[in-house]
Amino acid sequence: MILNLFQVPAAGSIQEPMICAGCGEQVCDRFFLLAAGRVWHGSCLRCSQCHCELQAHPSLFWRDGNIYCQQDYCRSNSFSTETA
Ligand SMILES: [Zn+2]
Ligand SMILES: [Zn+2]
Repeated sequence: MILNLFQVPAAGSIQEPMICAGCGEQVCDRFFLLAAGRVWHGSCLRCSQCHCELQAHPSLFWRDGNIYCQQDYCRSNSFSTETA
């Protein structure tokens, strides 16, 4: 599944403290990232496979509760189609 990545200005719009889904710390940055319905620090949104930072990527991918970059997602996809 392709995820959309939103960069959201934190000021004003949301009053509740936001907890990063990656590290569990509060997000106090001016901008936070919104992906998979969760809030992330820019540096915490990483591919679960190669750990590259995904905030610089145009698209990211979600499967089985893990986030992947395009490269690793395609790689794991071809694995599953081979075995099917
Ligand atoms: Zn974090
Ligand atoms: Zn990756």
